[in-house]
Amino acid sequence: MSEVNNQLDTLLHEQRSFPPSEAFAKQANFNDPGVYERALKDPDGYWAEQAENITWFKPYDKVLEWNPPHAKWFVGGKLNAAYNAVDRHRQGPRKNKAAIIWEGEPGDDKVYTYEMLGREVDKAAHMLKNLGVKKGDRVTVYLPMIPELPITLLACAKIGAIHSVVFGGFSAKSLQDRILDGDSDVLITADGGWRRGGIVPLKANADEAVEGTKVRKVVVVQRIGEKSNATMVEGRDVYWHEEMAKAPTTPCPAEEMDAEDILYLLYTSGTTGKPKGIVHTTGGYLVGVNTSMRSVFDLKEEDIFFCTADIGWVTGHTYIVYGPLTAGATVVMYEGAPDFPERDRFWAIVEKYSATILYTAPTSIRTFMKWGPQYAEKHNLDSLRLLGTVGEPINPEAWMWYHEHIGKGRCPIVDTWWQTETGCAMIAPLPGITTTKPGSATRPVPGIDADIVDEQGNSVEPGHGGYLVVKKPWPSMLRTVWGDDDRFKRTYFGQFEGIYLPGDGAHKDEDSYFWILGRIDDVINVSGHRIGTMEVESAIVDHKSVAEAAVIGRSHEVKGQAITAFVTVKEGIETSPELVAQIKQHVVEKIGAMARPEEIIFTAELPKTRSAKIMRRLLRDIAEGRVLGDTTTLADPSVVESLKNQYAHTE
Ligand code: ATP
Ligand code: MG
Repeated sequence: MSEVNNQLDTLLHEQRSFPPSEAFAKQANFNDPGVYERALKDPDGYWAEQAENITWFKPYDKVLEWNPPHAKWFVGGKLNAAYNAVDRHRQGPRKNKAAIIWEGEPGDDKVYTYEMLGREVDKAAHMLKNLGVKKGDRVTVYLPMIPELPITLLACAKIGAIHSVVFGGFSAKSLQDRILDGDSDVLITADGGWRRGGIVPLKANADEAVEGTKVRKVVVVQRIGEKSNATMVEGRDVYWHEEMAKAPTTPCPAEEMDAEDILYLLYTSGTTGKPKGIVHTTGGYLVGVNTSMRSVFDLKEEDIFFCTADIGWVTGHTYIVYGPLTAGATVVMYEGAPDFPERDRFWAIVEKYSATILYTAPTSIRTFMKWGPQYAEKHNLDSLRLLGTVGEPINPEAWMWYHEHIGKGRCPIVDTWWQTETGCAMIAPLPGITTTKPGSATRPVPGIDADIVDEQGNSVEPGHGGYLVVKKPWPSMLRTVWGDDDRFKRTYFGQFEGIYLPGDGAHKDEDSYFWILGRIDDVINVSGHRIGTMEVESAIVDHKSVAEAAVIGRSHEVKGQAITAFVTVKEGIETSPELVAQIKQHVVEKIGAMARPEEIIFTAELPKTRSAKIMRRLLRDIAEGRVLGDTTTLADPSVVESLKNQYAHTE
């Protein structure tokens, strides 16, 4: 962070723009541009209006109590998240509407109507109680993307237990760290999960992880069955189906929770360092996520919402479970890999269930670009009407590919900037109002007072860059870091008094649009020019042979920093010294000579977190010959090892 001593220069030249079509605007939930101004003038009034979409057992007394950096939203209000996500829909016309359409990787599928989901949640809630779980207890959840995962979350919410989900791709050690940090004594896992036709040994990892923790009960879902070699530990381990069979089939009353009672605990992706245990509470979180379903995703009663994220990440918590379900939507949930059995799996799912909204990540889109458009072309994608992206800055070329090959030029794209900490989308277009520009998340959504400021905290003029900040509290903001309020204060509120610092650098263009340029710590300073990683990467990805790129600044005697680019090429492309020269020249043409990469390293893979974000800090460590920092959240540790060897060789 200290590297950003003055404003972030910017070099972006994206000129294309896409206004909403008249037809889309006409039908959109949010189509009055005045909403921004109104919400900015009276945020409490705006959020109070949105809170009417949530069912409260007892009305709140006050919208907001703000003692920076601690916020309380909907003070005094009582409610229950599972009641809002499931039970209230069982009483009306949505009773027999599909809540979750689930597809397993091997091709099995299941549909849960709201009524069916409600019964399962009730049974699971009784089961948890039978196992001794009480209000406020932490339940660690380490499951594949199977229906028992959202059912477990909702069952916890129903009885007021705090869920802490650990992504199924994490190792035993990572799981153990999170169990210990959350101090939980019950673990819900499975005998395995399917991934690319292989079995993920969740139970074996769980056995290793619970050693030396307080875990006294392990509930095991049988997902794999005979083919699994999971073993059960007498007295500690129980099967989900057996415990569920013992549980009463009567409704389980929804625990009356305070608006500020904790709903869940979830660790960040670990892109920039040791993961933080983010704490979300009940009332504000539900109001925030429910609102964004209607505003950013323009959700309608008949929509089929397909979010490709894993529930192990915040995107799955918010946009598979709490967002769509509190809004009474139908969500599609898929267990496995996008390339199993073939590379058209997502498109096959879109076609099979007539998905209308698709929400995925730039990293997936870049992978699809690398594979080529023929896989999407095999399927009828006419049902789609809106596309979304989240997780990283989307390179304009990837945006255009998504627009043309998936949206067929017809679907608005919502590029949604947000974080585990923010709970829901913060900077994003409203698809019926906002003209989009490829690569820009556009502007803060109504009710969010975000800005880009300089070192002193002054708002930068259009045409300049700086720190992205959120100036006022918002309902779904994190309340603290679990067990470490000092880290919460230091990390997010240490820079500017009472102002939230997300840690990303951004540029404000002439229309005051926001362009997220990457992590503050990733900003490169070449001979005094401050360059965001995203713009150089976007210029490289713009080259026809390139699939993906990660650039970093490594120390350089003369320039201060020199740009090193790690590049993966599209399938069938041969790498050569000519290609290196071409790519460098391409960057010079797109941005300017100061952004010319000093060196280009071709690699088959880039190091990514398990949520598939590029880990530039490790590339910096490699380029500067340092010992690698925290690698526990890497998806594939062999990628950095081979890059390290390759890099030493290049030098
Ligand atoms: P850690 O905080 O542990 O380093 P992380 O920041 O990757 O991990 P997440 O909360 O999963 O954990 O990711 C949030 C970050 O992802 C944002 O701060 C931002 O850098 C990036 N991001 C998410 N969506 C977008 C987007 N639409 N455009 C640009 N960047 C995005
Ligand atoms: Mg982060």
